[in-house]
Amino acid sequence: MFRGILIEKDDTGYRSSLTELDEGQLPDGDVTVRVNYSTLNYKDALAITGKGPVVRKFPMVPGIDLAGTVEHSTHPDYQEGDAVILNGWGVGESHWGGLAQKARLNGDWLVPLPEQFTPQQTMAIGTAGYTAMLCVLALERHGVAPEDGEILVTGAAGGVGSVATTVLTRLGFKVVAVSGRPEETGYLKELGAVEVLDRASFATPGKPLGRERWAGAVDVVGSHTLANICATTQYRGVVTSCGLAGGMDFPATVAPFILRGITLAGIDSVMCPRSERLEAWRRLGRDLDVSKLAKINKEVGLTEVLQLAPKMLDGQVRGRLVVDVNR
Ligand code: NDP
Repeated sequence: MFRGILIEKDDTGYRSSLTELDEGQLPDGDVTVRVNYSTLNYKDALAITGKGPVVRKFPMVPGIDLAGTVEHSTHPDYQEGDAVILNGWGVGESHWGGLAQKARLNGDWLVPLPEQFTPQQTMAIGTAGYTAMLCVLALERHGVAPEDGEILVTGAAGGVGSVATTVLTRLGFKVVAVSGRPEETGYLKELGAVEVLDRASFATPGKPLGRERWAGAVDVVGSHTLANICATTQYRGVVTSCGLAGGMDFPATVAPFILRGITLAGIDSVMCPRSERLEAWRRLGRDLDVSKLAKINKEVGLTEVLQLAPKMLDGQVRGRLVVDVNR
């Protein structure tokens, strides 16, 4: 038996509980992992509360991230005792995930523990941090360089935003952070932001084009915020879109695309090909200031997850939440 969070849906409703699970209930897979740490991401909070249609199959163990040790493997690349991590691939959505003491997975989804990090640190980074790095890689791929100007990061006090701010600063970019929490201004400046703007100024409908300011952007908010960012991005600038914390809609015009040649780059971490994942983790090892990770993450126990999920959706969580599944 092992402990895990279980989401159930039936005639009596949608509920999540911390419960005892039997190893025989684990899904099919060629690698069984003893989980050390998982995380609480925005998507996990949607799954646990039922506020978003994240879970595709019931019952489900949530947790889109995990770090652990291989307990049993018939996969050629993994042996008992190997330290591994996993992000995405539908785990915690359609395949039982990391918010439990054990997981059984497809070995092709696993990434060996990056040597620069401890298991706890990889989860401090988690899907949010790895997605932030995918955004940085996309900015670079489209040619954005520090001398081009400022990079705007929205939802900056959240997980993606905190890691994006930290990494971009280390790479020499000037980061302007957008946050709805003025009390986090000191935190964001410690991570490297040169200025912090109020998110309210981006949240309402704006003009199709505004003063050109951003060389690039990392947006986790969507909706009017994303439209306003596109409208104020410099000629040939690049906006990466990875989130919907403010809404799934995109009420924009084509003006920034056809008159300023800006690029809107979509970022998906879930089905991202293995080669790009390995590159993102390699770059995190090189470009993330590990001393800042301690400021970004807070460790909690599995027993605290259910009460933290609604707080995360209310935007009350700073940075990243690492979950020690054994307490
Ligand atoms: P967090 O909850 O840690 O951070 C989100 C931040 O967005 C909040 O901290 C808050 O920052 C801001 N925010 C919250 N609500 C609103 C709102 N209504 N309007 C504007 N800003 C808001 O989540 P993550 O950083 O983990 O994820 C951010 C987004 O990215 C989510 O939508 C998530 O689903 C998505 N995501 C997508 C991935 C992909 O593969 N495409 C992977 C990972 C995440 P502040 O208080 O500073 O304003």
